[in-house]
Amino acid sequence: MNKNQCIQCLFVVMFLVAVWGWAKANSDVKVTGSWNNKPTELNPEKTAIIIVDMWNYHWCMTASERVSAMVPRMNVVLEAARELGMQIIWNPSDVVTAYSGYPQYEKALAVEHRQRPTVRPVPKAEFTAPGGDCMCGPGFKCGVNYGWDGMSPDLMIADNDLISASTNEIYSLLVERGITDVIYMGVHTNMCVYGKPGAISPLWQAGFNCMLARDLNDAFTTYDPGSGYTPDMGTTEIDENLQTAGIPNINMGEEFRQAGLLKSDVPVDYVRFAPWGKLERPYLMDKKTIVTLTAPWLEGTEIRYTADGSEPTKESSLYTAPLEISQTCVLRAAAFRNGKCVSLPSLAYYALMQAIPPKPDIYLEDLSFIANGYLPDFLWQPQKCKSFEGKPLRVSKKSYSHGMGFRAPSSVQYEIKPEYKRFVALAGIDENMLDDNHGRFVAMHSSVVFQLFIDGKQMAESPVMRISQESWRFDVKIPQGSRHINLVCMDAGSRSLLDYGNWVDAGFITQ
Ligand SMILES: [Zn+2]
Repeated sequence: MNKNQCIQCLFVVMFLVAVWGWAKANSDVKVTGSWNNKPTELNPEKTAIIIVDMWNYHWCMTASERVSAMVPRMNVVLEAARELGMQIIWNPSDVVTAYSGYPQYEKALAVEHRQRPTVRPVPKAEFTAPGGDCMCGPGFKCGVNYGWDGMSPDLMIADNDLISASTNEIYSLLVERGITDVIYMGVHTNMCVYGKPGAISPLWQAGFNCMLARDLNDAFTTYDPGSGYTPDMGTTEIDENLQTAGIPNINMGEEFRQAGLLKSDVPVDYVRFAPWGKLERPYLMDKKTIVTLTAPWLEGTEIRYTADGSEPTKESSLYTAPLEISQTCVLRAAAFRNGKCVSLPSLAYYALMQAIPPKPDIYLEDLSFIANGYLPDFLWQPQKCKSFEGKPLRVSKKSYSHGMGFRAPSSVQYEIKPEYKRFVALAGIDENMLDDNHGRFVAMHSSVVFQLFIDGKQMAESPVMRISQESWRFDVKIPQGSRHINLVCMDAGSRSLLDYGNWVDAGFITQ
């Protein structure tokens, strides 16, 4: 079969999938207008792919990691789509201005605007999957912030792609290019992919044939290990809801692979974790968490995993049921087919918290400190009972009247008196920046590692702390005869001026 025949074959398949979905939908739902596709009409020159909101960060860490996990597959599918002649349009909604000066954005802004017609009502999708504030499941919830500031940095944006977040702009670009069919990718399917400007609803209304890439979208649903409900199930359910409403689904990776359009067979899928923390954004546990592993696009594979940091092999533990994690660990997983690894190396990080410490007898702010390296009388001073910026101390959705506000990197020293028995504290990122539009564009940039040294010896360390997380708990026994304790806020690699770290309810226990 030559390449043209492959392409022809692919689009017949796509058409059949589309028609099947449409017919199925129309048995349940009446839509005004009609879909008059013939196989010859669904051709690459008349097809666009619109990718919605592949943000570089989301307040929910599991949601964030699931976006990153789609990137390798998306890159290869889009590369093949471009070669076929499909127009790629990135729609990053509220962070579109991050692409100011990009030729792909400026070209889209220059389009001659046309009035978008309304030829039929929006598809009546009834989303039945359970939702919630966060996709991490039971345990600590990720707090809401709007901290993303662009799309995933690993996405490949090509010269001839376009970037736009406006319905009229996208409509005008499609008309200008004679496009009739639109395939949607991105997140979150039940929210932005369905309803945002330039998304399914407004373009469907304008008469475009809209489809959904089943393997390259993710819905914002929930994780419930108790009932076995996973975010993958939520996405499938939402995709089916859309299909019922007349938006057919297509597995782009599989169709392209079967048509021989993918350049290589290197793995493009990760094993997915729920919940999903990473070293740079750990999932914090109180006592334990139940972790579910899935590989929805790697049919006929077995998942193997390790919890000792080593890369999984075909001899590693076979995943058969959700895992109970009750110790700090890096969990690594890979999918194998006939003994051959067919996934990308995948990992997750879970950090166990100790018990909440008691309040101190002597609060830190009542003691004088040696501000090593800080300039006296300048702003570069730790603040007593205030954040580094002089605002109330706020960590993990709570306000504190006791504590100290720092900015990383910093190391501040206190003298240890003979009666000091333990050092206790909570520590986390200051949350005052969330008052400004939920920390829009900035909240992702704060990251601090909190450390404790006694006479030069490290006694305790937090994992990388991010905003809207539970605060880390310190309860450290002080060896007899110790002289100095240093509280450290360490930059976690970002070198961000937003690395505001608070030690709250911090001080010494004398009993
Ligand atoms: Zn979460």
